[in-house]
Amino acid sequence: MPAINFAHVKFGERDSCVTAFQRALIERGHRIPAGATGYYGDQTKSACAAFQRAQGWSGSGADGLPGPQTFARLGFTDSRSGSGGGSGRVASPVPGRSVTYPYGVRNSRYAAGFHTGDDYAAPTGTPVVAVRSGTIAWSNDNGGAYGKWLGLRADNGRDYVYCHLSAREVRTGARVSAGQRLGRVGATGNVTGPHLHFEDRPRGGGYGDVRDPRW
Ligand SMILES: [Zn+2]
Repeated sequence: MPAINFAHVKFGERDSCVTAFQRALIERGHRIPAGATGYYGDQTKSACAAFQRAQGWSGSGADGLPGPQTFARLGFTDSRSGSGGGSGRVASPVPGRSVTYPYGVRNSRYAAGFHTGDDYAAPTGTPVVAVRSGTIAWSNDNGGAYGKWLGLRADNGRDYVYCHLSAREVRTGARVSAGQRLGRVGATGNVTGPHLHFEDRPRGGGYGDVRDPRW
């Protein structure tokens, strides 16, 4: 999760934190004619206001000047606030567990020809948590080879996919915050043992449309 100093992102300021902010707006389709120059002028203000309106905000919520919600929706944390707080960094989708079988391993047993996510082996029932804040795009038992699964549509525009769960504890449409429990590790679908298979897809991406998971 990128951290910038929120206090450096202000109208009239020139700073590398402004550059990061501009890049995030441009990445989401909001044009800044001069590009990510690092200067917060009228063009950046317009792009920011367009992004804010796209969130459904109006009035002072869409004035082109970022507040905490704007930064959060763009996926930024405040570098001044350290790692604490409700939207703080989540180290693992399975707290306390590391990757046991990584993304990208080539193997013809996968339809995509490679392992499309990171695996976290853990006993059935181990909690899994949201790696970022966002909305649950789906949560059902219809994952096929992925068994009980759910998709977290995160505030950085990515879909994080949690597979093979034994239990789902959030419904489609639920708003969740980083670190919130979503369900439990299991062995549903096509598996040899209990683990979380965790994918990082672009918003709306399907099977194989993935990157090495990061958040
Ligand atoms: Zn896997």
